[in-house]
Amino acid sequence: MQSTDYELLDAADPLKDFREQFIIPVINGKEQVYFLGNSLGLQPRTASWEISNVLDQWAMYGVEGFFTGDKPWLEFHEQLKRPLASIVGAFPDEISVMNQLTVNLHLMMVTFYRPNGKRKKIICEAKAFPSDQYMFETHLKSLGLDPEEVVIEVHPRRGEQTIRDEDIFQTIDQHRDEIALILWGGLNYYTGQAFDLKAVTKAGHDAGAMVGFDLAHAAGNIPLQLHDWNVDFACWCNYKYLNAGPGAVGAVFINEQHHRDESLHRFAGWWGYDLATRFQMEKGFKPIQSAEGWQLSTPSMLLYATLKASLDIFANAGIKQLHEKRRKLNAYLHQTLQHVNASLDEPIIEFITPINQSEPGCQVSLFMKSRGREIYDGLMQAGFIVDWREPSVIRLAPVPLYNTFAEIAKFGEHLQTLITTH
Ligand SMILES: *Cc1c(COP(=O)(O)O)cnc(C)c1O
Repeated sequence: MQSTDYELLDAADPLKDFREQFIIPVINGKEQVYFLGNSLGLQPRTASWEISNVLDQWAMYGVEGFFTGDKPWLEFHEQLKRPLASIVGAFPDEISVMNQLTVNLHLMMVTFYRPNGKRKKIICEAKAFPSDQYMFETHLKSLGLDPEEVVIEVHPRRGEQTIRDEDIFQTIDQHRDEIALILWGGLNYYTGQAFDLKAVTKAGHDAGAMVGFDLAHAAGNIPLQLHDWNVDFACWCNYKYLNAGPGAVGAVFINEQHHRDESLHRFAGWWGYDLATRFQMEKGFKPIQSAEGWQLSTPSMLLYATLKASLDIFANAGIKQLHEKRRKLNAYLHQTLQHVNASLDEPIIEFITPINQSEPGCQVSLFMKSRGREIYDGLMQAGFIVDWREPSVIRLAPVPLYNTFAEIAKFGEHLQTLITTH
């Protein structure tokens, strides 16, 4: 590999100018190499402008800001649903921008987890993100059920790091008369493994179960076709790959086939009430006939504003180009890391993330066989922002909107120096 390959790759990158639309962190005068867009995406330069538009509208009109001004707040979400729908492969009416991820998981459980006699099991991945585990535990207890009895976790095999597809399907098959719900992650936060969501949905439906996904690490990262795959529901946060800022408003997808189904339960609030008659304030809940019928509360326009800033950039960059660049960045990262490993007398990097995934996400998780913490500290001190997970894992995720091939090359060089010098 020529040392200038990265220059050619960056020069040929049709998205190279998008980096300027983000604020890259600078510490002690040094621009950082930020590889944690999987954890908290960087700030779009337009975020503060979008926020000040909301503040100005509030200052100018008070509560009338909901109905007047350039963008009446009552219609603000329309600008968010459309770009989100194209990112996750849905119709805009299947999207509702509301609450936050864990809250939405509980709300979707109210609607889509309907235990019925023997059919009450939930299939999920082992070692799901802790919040998802706590959600299952407490939600099931609130229904008088025993989480130990209800939740079936699919594990990696002994000595393996990731879950085999065939083990997911075998578990579904084995419990096919008892499964009420499959609630699975789109891409595992720890291993970076991406799952075949289309196939999981089909297998779940064949077994008579509802199928939903937690897309925290998948939305804005890998291609999704939630509607065409016939997924029942999905939830995600917008602060990871979607760059809407710390604690951003979350979003849900609810397949349109469920919008008018009155047999489904939900927890309701006035913001999910039919808009034409919402302000008559009548007794008896009448839902909006779309995913918005699941909204509860008045949404925060300040949080909408930062999400809009980011989604406008996604729309301008184009989802197809983003996926193309992601695949190239990921391939270059793998190539660079394998090159580092191959140059060592004793290779100390073990790839947790499967190397030949058909659709790899941005993230690569590395198990460091020795000196992991020391190497991580050295990277951080040198201005490479990556993260550390016990016992010895470094995670990094170069993203297509603001990372470059040159950053990956620099990272590889520095990593090699850290490993080879004590
Ligand atoms: C990041 C993440 C969360 C975080 O949940 P919040 O409610 O947004 O704090 C939950 N689940 C998964 C899988 C995640 O990756």
